Amino acid sequence: MRVVVVGAGVVGLTCAVRLAEAGHETHVLARDLPPETTSAVAAALWYPYRALPHDRVVDWSARTYEVLRALAGRPGTGVHLRPGVELLGPGAPPEPWWREAVPALETVRDPRPGYARGWRLDLPVAEMDVYLAHLTDRLAQAGGTLTRHWLAELPSSGVVVNATGLASRAVAADTSLHPVRGQVVRVGQVGLDEWLLESSDESRPLYVVPRSRDIVVGGTAEPDAWDLRPDPAVAERVLARAAELVPELRRAPVLGHRVGLRPARAAVRLEAVPHPGGGPGGVVHCYGHGGAGVTLSWGCADDVLCGVESLLSGAEVGAVAHE
Ligand SMILES: Cc1cc2nc3c(=O)[nH]c(=O)nc-3n(C[C@H](O)[C@H](O)[C@H](O)COP(=O)(O)OP(=O)(O)OC[C@H]3O[C@@H](n4cnc5c(N)ncnc54)[C@H](O)[C@@H]3O)c2cc1C
Repeated sequence: MRVVVVGAGVVGLTCAVRLAEAGHETHVLARDLPPETTSAVAAALWYPYRALPHDRVVDWSARTYEVLRALAGRPGTGVHLRPGVELLGPGAPPEPWWREAVPALETVRDPRPGYARGWRLDLPVAEMDVYLAHLTDRLAQAGGTLTRHWLAELPSSGVVVNATGLASRAVAADTSLHPVRGQVVRVGQVGLDEWLLESSDESRPLYVVPRSRDIVVGGTAEPDAWDLRPDPAVAERVLARAAELVPELRRAPVLGHRVGLRPARAAVRLEAVPHPGGGPGGVVHCYGHGGAGVTLSWGCADDVLCGVESLLSGAEVGAVAHE
């Protein structure tokens, strides 16, 4: 059956691949093509950051972990499984709230000067330029299409998936959605293969995410800030803080700066609803993934597939949960 997916970030593309590979005729329409999206800015370490509600996020993240782990190391996917450590502040619980989403996690003592404890684990990292191209290729192989097209509003009939991220403020008239601005610095590889994370202060997450040819160093998290221009003073502060924990970064050349607006909401919206005008079909909304769009992508895509199939079968619609 024919499905239109609006949006070609990691959420829209993953949903489209899932739908096309399940046999649905899938067409993606997007104002920005994959390399131009917020998703392309992501670090993109698997980590459930600034996304709610916890129970559904654990479930979506767990399923995504499994899919990304299976892709890791396969040529052309851009996904790698990397070891690393999250540094913990004094009040940290014995285990993270998302513990069930990962197969193994070890508590370590004195991981870095000034940190008494940390969690060590293997996490998937998706190198977004390669990974988004991999998803685009998979979509084409499954018979789907991707077209640059700006829509003033969502189609009013047929089965539609709304994966427009922050733009759902306009296309779904959802003003509860707001940006959480993030700035990152891309530096040259200096032989690093472990990620590092320190997020005890939600407004100043620190992360060092090595990729094949470079390292992404972040970051910032500024609610309701819309400015897409990188701030050189912020970049300097982020790099200085990161180099205290990973001294190798002092000799890494700066390659570039990027800013993205995380689509944040009190809860991810994953819901199938009728068209406002009562037209045939309906809309499966899938947006508001905050700082975890990559981390939740495959779990959410499973639920979007369920929502699409409910709409196609004419079943009563609403919040969707994967069986
Ligand atoms: C600095 C930074 C670091 C991050 N790091 C991580 C990380 O390590 N791990 C992680 O999981 N997540 C991370 N994230 C979060 C992640 O990037 C987002 O959650 C994710 O990109 C959201 O994806 P999306 O597909 O919903 O939105 P987007 O990537 O914004 O895609 C939206 C799509 O909708 C299209 N669209 C919008 N309006 C219209 C319209 N009217 N008509 C047609 N098309 C339209 C756009 O053009 C685009 O194609 C990070 C984000 C930032 C900013």
